Amino acid sequence: MSTVQALTSSERAASSRRRRTVPLSEPVFRGNEWRYVKACLDSGWVSSAGPFVERFEREVAAYVGVTHAVALVNGTAALHLALKVVGVSPEDEVLVPDLTFIAPVNAIRYCQAHPVLIDADPVTWQMDVEQVARFLAEECEQRGDICYDRRTERPVRAILPVHLLGSACEMDRIMTLARQYRLRVVEDAAEAIGVKYAGRHVGTFGDVGVLSFNGNKVITTGGGGMLLTDQPELARHARYLSTQAKDDEVEYIHHEVGYNYRLTNFQAALGVAQLEQLDGFLTKKREIACTYEALLRRSPAITRIHVPPHVEATYWLYTVLLPPGTTRAERQAAIRFMTEQGFEARPLWHPIHGLPPYRDCQTVNIEHTPSLYDRGISVPCSVGLRAEDAQRCARTLIEWLKR
Ligand SMILES: *Cc1c(COP(=O)(O)O)cnc(C)c1O
Repeated sequence: MSTVQALTSSERAASSRRRRTVPLSEPVFRGNEWRYVKACLDSGWVSSAGPFVERFEREVAAYVGVTHAVALVNGTAALHLALKVVGVSPEDEVLVPDLTFIAPVNAIRYCQAHPVLIDADPVTWQMDVEQVARFLAEECEQRGDICYDRRTERPVRAILPVHLLGSACEMDRIMTLARQYRLRVVEDAAEAIGVKYAGRHVGTFGDVGVLSFNGNKVITTGGGGMLLTDQPELARHARYLSTQAKDDEVEYIHHEVGYNYRLTNFQAALGVAQLEQLDGFLTKKREIACTYEALLRRSPAITRIHVPPHVEATYWLYTVLLPPGTTRAERQAAIRFMTEQGFEARPLWHPIHGLPPYRDCQTVNIEHTPSLYDRGISVPCSVGLRAEDAQRCARTLIEWLKR
């Protein structure tokens, strides 16, 4: 109490402004979270074995419609194992979007493989599949079952589409290309739980799909991930690698270099409780998107994401583009303005090809990712966001544009 009284009036004003900041994406725990976590403590099952781990796997598998789900410490670890079990090896190449959160690209590097960075479609912002097709047709050569990059002489082993912002990549086209060139497909659906493409959940088209339950995703386990597949051998291998590749529990016999990547029962307990609320969360996400659309649609200066009619989006992070020609500095000023007005806002991801660890990467006709980065801005869209806050946020953005 004495510290409160010791604050000057300007400090008090600053702290109340801070308190009023509407966060970008914060979790909501209003279901059985406490009850299930308490059950872990009461039973003593807190580590990486226990009933909630199996239950979470079973329920996620049923929800998305696959036969196998493997619970892992986070989405990045799930991507790493996904690439390993489909056979991505050192000196292979993997096609991945240039516009993405960095995790899938890092996972390629963990396998000592080489990312080949593909441009984004300027309208859907997802990986441009026509550039994938063009690269495979014009710059690669099929020898037997293996597709070689003619310039580097390396095998192109896999495509890693990332379903960005709660929308979806063109999976039909990607699967056709994968069959034609005999490539494996690992889908990064970390941002896309609940998203459907042609009526089917994303992450279930390729050989393996990956979900994330990080704190800023639609449902969370604090940190967590899930590997999805219909191929029992891939699930078995992933589970084996995630538990130190243990062949004999008692004698400590291991036949491969394994990892300690298993999710704990504790986290899975949170996951089961969150999953029970997922449908309500998704309804809320779509309502928030509608609230924003209703106001922003009237501003011709703003471009919204195009979701194709065969995609059911969830609008994980509600994101818009500022007018064409907006510079990075102008977008930074817009984010500062939004923050001053009490709304947390973020840019889209920095194109991977410009980041120090990936500056030397091969790129395929990068044309649109820099301007998407310069113009993109994500605004608050937590499941607990109030409609009036979304409306005030949309009006604040329109106000900035009028300046
Ligand atoms: C969040 C995210 C991940 C990584 O998930 P973690 O659970 O944080 O490791 C991977 N890919 C994309 C596209 C993401 O947004």
